[in-house]
Amino acid sequence: MEALLEKSRYVAYVDEDLCIACGTCEERCHFNAITIDETAKVDEDKCFGCGVCVVGCEQGAIRLKAVRPPEHIPP
Ligand code: SF4
Ligand code: SF4
Repeated sequence: MEALLEKSRYVAYVDEDLCIACGTCEERCHFNAITIDETAKVDEDKCFGCGVCVVGCEQGAIRLKAVRPPEHIPP
């Protein structure tokens, strides 16, 4: 059976120098991929690379990085 939701080419990562552990990204993530300790931590196995956390971070502390090649997205 095909997956209903395929992961994107990206995962989120946190700049620990900028993160203030406010928890906004944890609340925004629909995949429970973020936990908050001294800073936000992303579980790459759970992250779909949707970017919802990125647009909500006022510190600019969480971003996306490409982890899969362009061929990952079918034409
Ligand atoms: S929203 Fe930004 S500053 Fe707040 S916990 Fe997440 S990464 Fe850190
Ligand atoms: S990119 Fe999406 S799935 Fe990944 S941590 Fe951010 S909100 Fe969650």
